[in-house]
Parts: sequence; C-alpha cells; structure tokens
Amino acid sequence: MSRLHQHSESHLVARIGWLRAAVLGANDGIVSTASLIVGVAAASADTSEVLVAGVAGLVAGAMSMAAGEYVSVSSQSDTEQADLARERAELASQPEFEREELTRIYMDRGVDADLARQVADQLMAKDALTAHARDELGISEVTAARPIQAALTSAATFAVGAAMPLAMVLLMPRSLLVVGVSIASLIFLGSRLNHSQKATAAARLTADRKLRASLS
Ligand SMILES: [Zn+2]
Repeated sequence: MSRLHQHSESHLVARIGWLRAAVLGANDGIVSTASLIVGVAAASADTSEVLVAGVAGLVAGAMSMAAGEYVSVSSQSDTEQADLARERAELASQPEFEREELTRIYMDRGVDADLARQVADQLMAKDALTAHARDELGISEVTAARPIQAALTSAATFAVGAAMPLAMVLLMPRSLLVVGVSIASLIFLGSRLNHSQKATAAARLTADRKLRASLS
C-alpha cells in the first residue's frame, strides 16, 4: 500500500479529452489554411494578399473549431449530468435496489457474492454516487467531458497548425508559393502523424514495463 502512495502515476488516459481535440485541431489548421493559401496564391494574388487571406483563415478557423468542439463536448457533458441526476434520484428513492445493482455488477466482474456485497456496502457508505457513476455508468473524474478545455485546446492547436503553412508564405519566394506550400504541408502532416505514432508506442512500452515491474 505504502509503495502505491509514494509515486503518483500520470496516465495518458487522463489527457484523452484535450489530446483528441489537439490532434483534430492541428490537422485541420494545416489542411484548411494550406488549401486557402494555395487557392489564393493560384489566383495570382500578391504575397501580402495571400498573407491576409491566410491570417483571416487562421482566426476564423480557430473560432469555428472552438465553437464546434464546445457544442459537441457540452452535449456529451449534458448527457453525463442527466445520467448522474437520475442516478442520484434513484439512490435516494430506492437505495436497496441500487445496492443490489452494484453488488451484481461486482459479481459479474468475478467477485464472490458475499465480498461483492461488502464492497458495494463500503463504497456506498463512503460516496454512493461516485461508486455508481464509475462502476455502473462508466463516468469518472478522469474521463468526464470538459467543454471549455476542449474548445480552448482545439482553437490553440488549430492556430499552431495554421501557422505552419503561413510561415511558408513568409519564407518562400512568390513564384514557388503554390507548389512549396502544398509540399511543405504534406510534410507537416506526415511528421505530425509520425510524432503521434511514436508517442503512442512510447506510452505502450512504458505501460508494459511498469506492468512487468509491478508483477515481478
Ligand atoms: Zn445505480
């Protein structure tokens, strides 16, 4: 027990909400801004006009990503809140039925009937709603939907993604803009994919090692 208390692990799943928003945001930022820049540049505009269009695209895109993410994650959050409210009401109106229900859940997971009843009793004595939310509804502090966090993350990462092709406009001669931004954006997307794959592989490896260490 004491060993568990000494180190607090940080798991990737705790960051799943903003990680998802971040990946979507960065990809969208690169793709939509690069397409806009290539389109405007192909229509033979000056570099300054291309830049204005690109910056406008960055701002509009970041706001629309934030709004879209906020609405989508809020509706998930509303559903969770409604479920929790119903659970709270059921716990108040029929505690015995809820106790049976939780006991049954632990039994289905392989716990003996007597022990399952004890676990249900003790968890419900401490915090019945949290126990039911986690083990019956699958809602926990870690996985709860956070709309503002998701909105800010996707707006920020969209802006970072959009800044990459925009920087190319500043760095490249006008004559190379259409081809250059297209190729550079494909490279940005490719390297981003590689990074997330490496991160996933690293996380898997670390988790595996920790598991082995804890088993031995
Ligand atoms: Zn319940």
